[in-house]
Amino acid sequence: MDELFSAENLKWRDKAREIAETVVRPLAAKYDRLQEYPWEIRDALKEAGLFGVWIPKEYGGHGGGVLDLCLVVEELSKACGGVGVLFAVNALGSFPILLAGTEEQKKHYLPQIARGEKLIAFGLSERPAGSDASGLVTNARQEENGDWVINGQKKWTTNGGAADIYSIFAVTDETSRSRRISAIIVEKGDEGFEIGRKEDKMGIRCVPVAELHFDECRVPGNRLLGGKPGLGFKHAMMTLDRARPGVAAQALGLATGALELATVYATERRQFGQPISGFQMIQQMLADMATSVEAGRQLVYASARACDADVPSLSKMAAMSKLFCTDMAMKVTTDAVQVFGGYGYMKDYPIEKYMRDAKITQIYEGTNQVQRLVIARNLIKEAGRLDNLSAFIPLPDHDNTIADQDRAAQTAGA
Ligand SMILES: Cc1cc2nc3c(=O)[nH]c(=O)nc-3n(C[C@H](O)[C@H](O)[C@H](O)COP(=O)(O)OP(=O)(O)OC[C@H]3O[C@@H](n4cnc5c(N)ncnc54)[C@H](O)[C@@H]3O)c2cc1C
Repeated sequence: MDELFSAENLKWRDKAREIAETVVRPLAAKYDRLQEYPWEIRDALKEAGLFGVWIPKEYGGHGGGVLDLCLVVEELSKACGGVGVLFAVNALGSFPILLAGTEEQKKHYLPQIARGEKLIAFGLSERPAGSDASGLVTNARQEENGDWVINGQKKWTTNGGAADIYSIFAVTDETSRSRRISAIIVEKGDEGFEIGRKEDKMGIRCVPVAELHFDECRVPGNRLLGGKPGLGFKHAMMTLDRARPGVAAQALGLATGALELATVYATERRQFGQPISGFQMIQQMLADMATSVEAGRQLVYASARACDADVPSLSKMAAMSKLFCTDMAMKVTTDAVQVFGGYGYMKDYPIEKYMRDAKITQIYEGTNQVQRLVIARNLIKEAGRLDNLSAFIPLPDHDNTIADQDRAAQTAGA
């Protein structure tokens, strides 16, 4: 399938693949156990220039987009799902600046991120506001000198503590319904900004997920994203649309990695005098796993291309790829553990980590229930385009069903 990619796409994918195999895979179990940020892996990604793949050339990146991001995330996640998100979260954090920042903000922040010198995080969720992100309560008021003063707490910020820059969403106008929220850029070391509790997680353990605490946190006026208040929720949704293919790519990488391990194991593990790969029930599992992985792969690339082309259906496509690939990864990684039998359940073997890492992909950046809502809303909105079909669909509460028409025709003696 390499023919479907540009030389540039393949260059970044291959660099990521090399780092995944030579640096990430040998260290994956260690950092999963330690639950510490793997700075040596960050250094390898930085050295290879990978943090610039989704950032335009004019802001110090390589001029790729969501497709290059997904190719890199997929490769890294094949070796470690935690490293996949450790990388992808920098796209999630920087998309608000890329999509809506002022020229000054883009020129200041994006080159540092593209070079991998500064890491970034995305702070939307709060204790009372998860799926209902618009219900967030962290607030920011503007002082007479233009400074913004933030108060509140963010829950579960991936990269919290490791990141230097934070895209933070806060209420700036409690009286407005549609323009209640704004995004503000906060930096490590800003007065009144502290990292709170660091979570102890089931999976993706090498990347920190932490609370963020703002207590009269003061930042200069030019940190308001885009320079205009009230557009934060819109910018958060635009960001999630473009970041979801990255979560799908993380899930795809995890599923692919688990399938590869399960296939190799099946050819080596012998029972009843033969490799277990000789048993048809194992073959069926491997064949089903491979088929759903391949279907997911096509959705990831199609949704990434939809984002890069900025097509109107990108929101629906992104939600579909996130939904399908993350459910698929949960099933494939669980089946991979099954192929390993009892050994698969043990931490001495690499496969159970894939199952643990896969679970979060069904939850963050919008749960899969929320993805279904996004897809259904878009379908219903698009139904207007199918108006021509109405003429062929009799409505049950009208006397124009096909049966009614037949009866009427018979009564009339036709
Ligand atoms: C490890 C981890 C990392 C995270 N990283 C980040 C991050 O970097 N930045 C950030 O901002 N957030 C982050 N989050 C937060 C994440 O996005 C939220 O956990 C997620 O959106 C769900 O919110 P919730 O946990 O409050 O669940 P809830 O919203 O309370 O949902 C609970 C259940 O109810 C269902 N549900 C809710 N509403 C509906 C509905 N309308 N219809 C049907 N079902 C519904 C959900 O699908 C879910 O099954 C992270 C979370 C975790 C666990």
